[in-house]
Amino acid sequence: MDYQVLLYYYYNDIEDPDAFAAEHLELCRSMNLKGRILVAGEGINGTVSGTVEDTEQYMAYMKQHPLFEGIVFKIDEAEGHAFRKMHVRPRPELVNLSLEEDVNPHEITGEYVEPADFLEQMQDDNTVVLDARNTYEYDVGHFRGAIRPDVETFRDLPEWVEENREMLEGKRILTYCTGGIRCEKFSGWLKREGFDDVGQLHGGIATYGKDPVAKGQNWDGMMYVFDERLTVPVNQVEHNIVGKDHFDGTPCERYINCANPDCNDQILASEENEAKHLGGCSIECTKHPRNRYIAENNLSAEYVDAQIRMLEEEAFAK
Ligand SMILES: [Zn+2]
Repeated sequence: MDYQVLLYYYYNDIEDPDAFAAEHLELCRSMNLKGRILVAGEGINGTVSGTVEDTEQYMAYMKQHPLFEGIVFKIDEAEGHAFRKMHVRPRPELVNLSLEEDVNPHEITGEYVEPADFLEQMQDDNTVVLDARNTYEYDVGHFRGAIRPDVETFRDLPEWVEENREMLEGKRILTYCTGGIRCEKFSGWLKREGFDDVGQLHGGIATYGKDPVAKGQNWDGMMYVFDERLTVPVNQVEHNIVGKDHFDGTPCERYINCANPDCNDQILASEENEAKHLGGCSIECTKHPRNRYIAENNLSAEYVDAQIRMLEEEAFAK
């Protein structure tokens, strides 16, 4: 493995995010890195790939930078780049929880829980584990027994918490996310809502899976990542599949993007079902005039028509 994928964030005031982003992009390009970095007045959040030498050089640069003292990198070995391009983008905030009143993790945040402690505490009857990620991330893998608040966006969280107050009240609440950055705010928000006993998985799932004591235990499925790998393993001891095929509900951990470019929804699907549905997540998407799957596989009009007829008959029979 000659490459590495880095994941990191750091909350600190950056005075001129636009200027910093432009400069940082030049730096990353000079180091042959690829990936996606967000820069905001409140800090930096990034994931980049590169050769071991280039990524080590980048980490050394960041660690000696006065703005990022003590920055921690989560490192994955890789066989090549995990991104196609290098982007550094200025943003109003690093994590958009769409909250009416933003949370400053410097002022309020949940207590850090190290992986080995997290493993122990999450199995306690008095603990509720909350997943701070999106549904499509939760679906392919999560901590056993963890709850994913049933909300479209974090804007709906206050209502969800109100409805589920009974389940949460008086309990120890543990939160987790991929690299830890979303929990900084999410756990802080929970504390501000009046829950006292809130902990957050320090370093996120990415750290948990590599911890020599926790060994990723009690994690089912894979971890969704925001690069071309799409998913990576977490549990070093056992592997239970929790992902379900979008079409037939059978165990599945293979992500595809719906072939309708206007939809592009990420779904889990076997190769067979992808072929059967011509890459579409629904009959409407399959029939879309710019269906990518049909174009990429050079399928004939006769074949496509016959396939769509078959799918429509099948749907009708249901
Ligand atoms: Zn679709």
